[in-house]
Amino acid sequence: MKYVDEFRDPAKARYLLGEINRQIEQIATCQVRPLQLMEVCGGHTHALFKYGIETLLPEVIELVHGPGCPVCVLPMGRVDDCVALAEQGGVIFTTFGDPMRVPGSRKSLAQAKAEGADIRMVYSPLDALKLARQHPEREVVFFGLGFETTIPSTAFTVLQAEREGINNFSVFCNHITIIPTIKAILDSPDMQLDGFLGPGHVSMVIGTRPYGFIAERYHKPVVIAGFEPLDVLQAVAMVLRQIAKRRAEVENQYGRVVPQEGNRAALTALSQVFEVREYFEWRGLGSIDYSGVRLRQRYARYDAERRFSLPNLKIADPKACQCGEVLKGILKPRECKVFGTACTPETPLGALMVSSEGACAAYYRFGRLQQQTPAHSRETMDQA
Ligand code: SF4
Repeated sequence: MKYVDEFRDPAKARYLLGEINRQIEQIATCQVRPLQLMEVCGGHTHALFKYGIETLLPEVIELVHGPGCPVCVLPMGRVDDCVALAEQGGVIFTTFGDPMRVPGSRKSLAQAKAEGADIRMVYSPLDALKLARQHPEREVVFFGLGFETTIPSTAFTVLQAEREGINNFSVFCNHITIIPTIKAILDSPDMQLDGFLGPGHVSMVIGTRPYGFIAERYHKPVVIAGFEPLDVLQAVAMVLRQIAKRRAEVENQYGRVVPQEGNRAALTALSQVFEVREYFEWRGLGSIDYSGVRLRQRYARYDAERRFSLPNLKIADPKACQCGEVLKGILKPRECKVFGTACTPETPLGALMVSSEGACAAYYRFGRLQQQTPAHSRETMDQA
């Protein structure tokens, strides 16, 4: 398939793996400790496991799975707020599919729907606006979730609602931004990262410039990466080349999609409709300053948090849940006490097991068998 097969070519993958190994030989740190590279985006975590890339890389490269999956970092209290909104009489609560099964303290959205709440899955905020047009007697709330990748579509929808004078539409805004998040990771004493694979989708909107501080202030290389196997391998090779040459720059491996300046129209709509919140709570990471956005005062009538009364409580994760440590890269998903036992994709305890981009879901789906299959079984499989 055009634009896909050329990014999955085995001969080119072998060449890039050779290049990765050549770079490793040039890096003195690798003699002392593993190199820790963080893939910020859940899409990369998914690609690493789906294509078995982690097992192809030299052992001295340790991939740390970052918090770039917006569903995974949704705190339990916000899920409870969604449920409370959905259960209000007269409300049609609209959401993307992924958050439906994220556990709240009482129930998930899927459970609330099963109990009768009018919750509908949509593919875009415009679908929610269409419902508002069709049901003027109801209040339609859209669950705005995601990084800069999805914020512009919410912003354009609010602008469209204003243009049409639609007043029974609002957004429960849980949108978050990537730069303060990366800064919080870099300032965390727990982290000892050597470089970053930058998020491809977010960068399509914000461009490459906002990452400059990582190279300038923290002296870490960043390579914005695509999501096909060759994209990821090439990005790893580029990060290693920088480390080997003691460079720290922002490079763009995903140039076919990510423009240096980002998407002007999307950025304009984003800043027209949204402003930064001082604090926003993340699951397992606590509050990260300036990491969330809310609707500006001018669009207050489209803000579900201003229109409805919400519990707005801070709820601690279940004791057994170690999502926070996994999100910070301190634990691998497999090291969580309940991974694959009390917490599975069918019975998730934490959001990282729910979203297809969650690190725990990726390990469970693509990595678990490989790690747990005893050697004798593998031999049998090889002979088969
Ligand atoms: S296995 Fe479940 S509880 Fe443990 S970190 Fe992953 S999602 Fe959280």
